[in-house]
Amino acid sequence: MLRDLKGYKKCQISTSSLFYYYILKQIQKLRKHIEDVAVEEPYMGERIPLNWLTFDDQKEKISGGKPVMTLKQVMKGIEMEDEPELLTMLKFYHDLGHIIYFGGDGAKKSKTLKDVVILDPHWLINAFKKILIVEPRKEQTVKYRQSWNLLKDEGILEDLLIDLVWQSISEHKQALLDLMDKFDLLCKRVDEEEEHSSPASSMARQPCLAKASYYVPSMLRQRTSRPIQLETIEKNSSVFFVDFKEFLPDGLYHRLVVRALRWSQDLGGRKPDLLYDRASFYVDEHHQFALQMVHQPKRAYIKVSVIRAEVIPPPQSVKKPSADVTRKVKDFVEENLLNLKTMWIERVDYCISVQCPDKKHKVIHFLPLDECMVNSAVDCYFEYSRVSIKTDEIQAMFKQKSPEEEASAREERQPMSDIFFREIANDIGREWKRLATNLHLKHVAVFKIEIEHRESVDEQIFQMLVLWRQKRGNKVNEMRKELIDALIKVDRRDLADKVRDY
Ligand SMILES: [Zn+2]
Repeated sequence: MLRDLKGYKKCQISTSSLFYYYILKQIQKLRKHIEDVAVEEPYMGERIPLNWLTFDDQKEKISGGKPVMTLKQVMKGIEMEDEPELLTMLKFYHDLGHIIYFGGDGAKKSKTLKDVVILDPHWLINAFKKILIVEPRKEQTVKYRQSWNLLKDEGILEDLLIDLVWQSISEHKQALLDLMDKFDLLCKRVDEEEEHSSPASSMARQPCLAKASYYVPSMLRQRTSRPIQLETIEKNSSVFFVDFKEFLPDGLYHRLVVRALRWSQDLGGRKPDLLYDRASFYVDEHHQFALQMVHQPKRAYIKVSVIRAEVIPPPQSVKKPSADVTRKVKDFVEENLLNLKTMWIERVDYCISVQCPDKKHKVIHFLPLDECMVNSAVDCYFEYSRVSIKTDEIQAMFKQKSPEEEASAREERQPMSDIFFREIANDIGREWKRLATNLHLKHVAVFKIEIEHRESVDEQIFQMLVLWRQKRGNKVNEMRKELIDALIKVDRRDLADKVRDY
């Protein structure tokens, strides 16, 4: 028994020693791997000028303990006259994460950005936070209350408020705004009133420049209320989705909204409609488009709708948005999401999709758009049942048909056109009033047509069919079925077949 216990203890010691030995080996392996990776880095083995090292070692001293410094201060501090070399050095230390400097490349539009070398990232984050966190209401002074409300209700940041929150760092105001613009946290707002005011009147409203304002969509507080399971798609819209499976960060969505605001303003758009999770923008005089962020249990997506403007009075048939515009919007979303993913959040995964038109599952689910665009039918395996989905309608949202295809498609889509009714009217003859009854038209209405067009029976029949079409609201498939049924009831199977084959 005693011998057994001793044996057990001995065995335990040797197990833990083995364990430590194993861990040690793993740490050695990890260290070796880190060294190997580091050696592969492009800057390894490069010779760094001595004054570069001076800058890195003494930057806090050169800046006089401040978290930010100007290009001139750096130049003077390390005695470097050559500006291209200076910019290369700053970019090098930015890439290493020692400073924050965005003036080296891609900063053509911002001179102020070129002049700001940030030594302390916390300083930058705190400056942003001052804009991105609304001051509690009880701490707001009356003078600024309206501006705080404008920020959270309409996402508009006024210059007045910027001056308030950044009063201690006002010398860096423009550079900070440029950085927030570069990070797609805000964009400058084109104000319709200022745009249309004459130079004389804007001179009178001095100082005009101080009236600049910005859109900050992440600051909006109001959301859409949406208890829906299945997306309803309006007749005047073309809708596609960006399916993020389960992970869609709000920050990514808001950056896309900022870019959409810039794009729409460039196209001439003003007064976008903004909520925290939905925004709609002008594209051209006939179209607008909307982005909507949706989070559901185990599902997150952005719904993109291209919407044709309403026409008053409404036309007989609702027009779908132009395929060119829908494609333009899709290209915008695709390009910008890819760019944002590369810049900010590599690990996010998404797929540009369309909603599966098979509604029997009562749950929204998607089909990949690129597959739908190259195949005449795709399979949907939602909930393990295989359904083949025809893709012609999906493709039509993005592809303009050739003029001949367009003409024949139009004919196909409109079996209830005037030309079609004239052909039917010529063929019906005496049975037409019975047909009217079977089409559920009132006797008084038929009588009225008879009186008003007494010179021609064909015209009476034609007018009767037009009246019926008006009442049915041009729902082509339902109308076709109703007309076939009615013709069969008045013993005109020949005409019923003609309608079926039209
Ligand atoms: Zn399906």
